Amino acid sequence: MACDHWIGAEQRYCRSTNQVRHFLPGMRCPAHTPNALKGVPEVPPGPGRPRDWATPLPPRTPTARDKRPLAAVKPTEESR
Ligand SMILES: [Zn+2]
Repeated sequence: MACDHWIGAEQRYCRSTNQVRHFLPGMRCPAHTPNALKGVPEVPPGPGRPRDWATPLPPRTPTARDKRPLAAVKPTEESR
């Protein structure tokens, strides 16, 4: 695996194999990740979701419509 980043100024691909990881545009070394090219900090790898998602959503209070019993559907002549 090697970095697929095209270095336009040098007219060549990076081809670095040091700590190459897969990103949406392809394989990238740490210097050429999408975030690095944009100049923003790298997102740390690993599973997980934002900490504030750990709290489950409160249960939904049933509305008057939910409490209404289901209406029976009378069979029609054709369906018999
Ligand atoms: Zn690279």
